[in-house]
Amino acid sequence: MPTFVVGVPTAAYDAKAISARDDLGELQLTTEDEPPTPTGKYRRWLPVRATAGDVRFHYGAAPRIVDAQTRNGPLFDLRSEAGGVIGSGVYFIAAPPGDETYRLSLAWDLSKVPAGWRGVSSFGEGRKSELVTSETLAFSYYAAGPINSVPEKADAAFALYWLATPPFEPIGLSRDIQQLYTYMSRFFEDEGAPYRIFVRGNPYPAGGGTALNRSFMLGYGTDGQTSSGGDTQMILAHEVTHNWLRFNRGEHADTAWYSEGMAEFYAVLLARRAGVISLDKFERVVSEHASDYYTNPYVGLPNPEVGKKFWQDPRAQRVPYGRGFMYLARVDALVRAQTNNKRSLDDLALEVLRRQRSGAKVGNEEWVQMVAETLGPAAKKDFDAMVGGERIEIPGNSFGPCFAPQTVTERPFELGFDEYKLAAVTGLRPDTEAAKSGLANADEIVSMSPIRQSKEDPAKSMTITFRRAGAEHTVSYLPRGAEVVSARWRRVPGVPDAECNL
Ligand SMILES: [Zn+2]
Repeated sequence: MPTFVVGVPTAAYDAKAISARDDLGELQLTTEDEPPTPTGKYRRWLPVRATAGDVRFHYGAAPRIVDAQTRNGPLFDLRSEAGGVIGSGVYFIAAPPGDETYRLSLAWDLSKVPAGWRGVSSFGEGRKSELVTSETLAFSYYAAGPINSVPEKADAAFALYWLATPPFEPIGLSRDIQQLYTYMSRFFEDEGAPYRIFVRGNPYPAGGGTALNRSFMLGYGTDGQTSSGGDTQMILAHEVTHNWLRFNRGEHADTAWYSEGMAEFYAVLLARRAGVISLDKFERVVSEHASDYYTNPYVGLPNPEVGKKFWQDPRAQRVPYGRGFMYLARVDALVRAQTNNKRSLDDLALEVLRRQRSGAKVGNEEWVQMVAETLGPAAKKDFDAMVGGERIEIPGNSFGPCFAPQTVTERPFELGFDEYKLAAVTGLRPDTEAAKSGLANADEIVSMSPIRQSKEDPAKSMTITFRRAGAEHTVSYLPRGAEVVSARWRRVPGVPDAECNL
């Protein structure tokens, strides 16, 4: 298990924390730490002698202690909430190595907790038996305690769970997600498969979503927001899309363009096809993706280099979202043009899924071969350019006859310091408006304007009240960087909605 995964610490047991026994009695373990990768640091536990018969392990994990100072990150840690616990297995489960499939028997012992408490996981509620790999066991969600759910009945195939009462209406949220999920599961040839959503709160003003095995976790901040950027509806669509679109070969840093780019692409496209969002909103969302891409300070950095910065700099973490989206919009346009609209990215996405369902591994190499079947050798050239960080222009014929690219200039949002840790100013970047305003590292933030409003409105200034050496001060500045050339999609006048052909 990792001791640290994508910026989040885990229970990180030492050798003594796990006790083991087999037919010969007590089994001593030693630990071995692997060299760190961009994704995390992994630890192995090894027996000091040959084992005999079944081996039983016993260990306990306490929830991670979090507070206003905790840096926001993927929702992997185990946390305490409303007296219960909620988090992913990767935080507390030391799983067998390798990618074989095992028979998992999962049971909850609720004999020592108050009556009415429930045990729920990505596999469902209560006792479960399934064939899974170690990775699925670790990358699933687990929650126990005074759990509430929509629907209220136990072990529904589609359900939303929470411990502490969220600042939004769970019934409405569940209905919105189910509508999208039903449409998407049909599109991805997976109708009727179970799906579960877990919701929890952060003790700091930032939220987000993390998708794992047939489920995702939605986190909201002390400001009630589920994200500092986009809107809840698109975050939900993005996380649900992850359920189907990911490579099963290759390192995260090399394949994130696919999982994040595809999630961005099909979140907005299928939300529109399902009628969940308007054409206006479609235009706004795809244009935001283009803007995110062109204004990212790492827009020209190759994928492997970006991967090394993922978990230190949130702006690097965003690169695969924008880059993947732009590349896939381009592939979609090229395939449609080449086949006179008979084929599109849909066929490629479904082909990846069908291969994976038949047990095949699909990664970058297989992808390029699949695209080359339609686009020829240009597919490889295009792919290498994307990996290398070459600028991707919006193709003239993308998203049908309703939309056309438009070049614009803009000043990208630039808070000036670490956006994921807002209790105090950290990682202040010199030459930013924030630094010029007089802010300094370690200034304790008392209050600040909502980041989301500043992101949406390029003229909106940021006002921050902070405490330094016992005294309070207030500064205001325009949270924007230097002007860059960017592009967006604009609706072509005169083309009726019915001909939009998305
Ligand atoms: Zn994602």
